[in-house]
Amino acid sequence: MRVRGIWAAWAAVLTAAWMLALWAEQGQGLVAGANGESVQWAWLLRRDLLLLTGVWSLGMLSLTMWLALRQPWMERPLGGMDQVYRLHKWLGTTAAVAAVMHWIAKESSAWIKTVWGTAGRPARDAMLPWLAEGRSWAKDLGEWAFYALLLLVALTLWRRLLPYKPWRWLHRVMPVLYGALVFHSLVLLPQAYWQQPVGWLMGALMVLGSAAALWALAGRIGRARRYAAQVHAVQLLGTRPAQDPLEVLCALPAHWPGHRAGQFVFVRWDAWEGAHPFTVASAPGACGQTADGRTLLRLVIKPLGDYTAQLHRRLHAGQAMQIEGPYGRFDGRAPHADGQAVPVQVWVAAGVGITPFLAWLEARQPGSMPHAEAPGDGLSAAHLHYCTRDAATDRLLPRVQNLCAEACPPMGLTVHDAAQGQWLRPQDLEHHGPELDLWVCGPQSLGDALQQGAQAVRAQGGRWRLHREAFGMR
Ligand SMILES: Cc1cc2nc3c(=O)[nH]c(=O)nc-3n(C[C@H](O)[C@H](O)[C@H](O)COP(=O)(O)OP(=O)(O)OC[C@H]3O[C@@H](n4cnc5c(N)ncnc54)[C@H](O)[C@@H]3O)c2cc1C
Repeated sequence: MRVRGIWAAWAAVLTAAWMLALWAEQGQGLVAGANGESVQWAWLLRRDLLLLTGVWSLGMLSLTMWLALRQPWMERPLGGMDQVYRLHKWLGTTAAVAAVMHWIAKESSAWIKTVWGTAGRPARDAMLPWLAEGRSWAKDLGEWAFYALLLLVALTLWRRLLPYKPWRWLHRVMPVLYGALVFHSLVLLPQAYWQQPVGWLMGALMVLGSAAALWALAGRIGRARRYAAQVHAVQLLGTRPAQDPLEVLCALPAHWPGHRAGQFVFVRWDAWEGAHPFTVASAPGACGQTADGRTLLRLVIKPLGDYTAQLHRRLHAGQAMQIEGPYGRFDGRAPHADGQAVPVQVWVAAGVGITPFLAWLEARQPGSMPHAEAPGDGLSAAHLHYCTRDAATDRLLPRVQNLCAEACPPMGLTVHDAAQGQWLRPQDLEHHGPELDLWVCGPQSLGDALQQGAQAVRAQGGRWRLHREAFGMR
């Protein structure tokens, strides 16, 4: 909801800035053509569309560049780093759609010429004089950058076209494309715009977006939050490396800022392999410290892809690693107005989506809350629904059961065993009541089904406040 709202507000700001320029032009009679003749409406429409879509495309892309910097302060207004990525993707996609409209407007000149002729075509807008030489360069560069942008967005949206790893490498050319589009816009934006809010806004966005692009190209994204860590211990939780999760205990240096239960980190063990996101599956302080005082934290990793399937062979105690973070706001804290009853918390985990809840459960163990006056202070009662493929072979299930049994305040636990045909449906949560604080981590399909369930409850006057952790960043 927040992502949609911010996207719509940004589109409105860009449109309003452009409309102010249009209004100023009408006031000056510019729409009547440079020589006072009446401008043919089709040509005028083409020019307006060309400028509006250009403003939209560059404005959206500039914000996309900023969001790619993954700054922790962005998490608060958006509700977590997964939402920052979602907005980044929405803006990038709409920038590409605006660029397609821009291209259509540009190409429409041949068609308008055939139907109406060139009479009434407005004179070319004057550009910044010191950039006039670059006009044909700017046009060609803009066109090539547009084709490349379309290709990149298509590869992002149609995942089957390209696996994640090559896509990630390819995505790194984005700052270069952005630079080309900035040059295109700088040269071709009408000179009159630079004396108006739309020009000031575009100028500021070009400067800020270019700074972000350079930051990305220099490989500095996240560098200030990277910590040289070490693998302290590795253990396969089971006997089947292709299916069972791997538990990795990591030792963090003294200046590690700490994390909140439910947050995630980017982890890099090999320089050639990109950083992979994993949730910290332990509560702050729950794993203790090494003999030399370094903080320990736990990762629980399922072999879900090429790289994670090899980790049981690649990792060993003492190995150097890099951890970046922590990020995320999947922390079980929901805003409640003073005096209002705190609704029942229901947690839904599926598969490896249990990791943030492992951290939450550890934070509810007696003795793990040093600042609380009594165990469980400040925490609401909760019930965990855990969906597993096969309860009989699930290596994490006994741990989940123990943690729930010891939790304070007490936790309810329902296991949905797919091997027994026990698939979780939204109706299975109805007995918790019409007012729920619902926290979900698992596959997209499960989150979508619960979202629909929440809508159905809302239609009947209830309220399920749904919080989802999107376990995907493409
Ligand atoms: C916020 C978050 C928290 C996560 N927490 C856990 C966890 O606690 N335990 C766990 O087992 N898994 C977790 N994952 C999933 C885990 O990151 C992927 O399973 C892992 O990166 C797959 O890598 P691969 O090379 O083996 O798989 P691949 O076959 O290369 O990729 C499979 C899928 O994993 C995702 N992926 C791969 N590499 C990356 C990357 N570098 N950055 C982002 N996504 C990537 C892509 O969506 C890709 O389509 C989490 C993911 C996110 C986004």
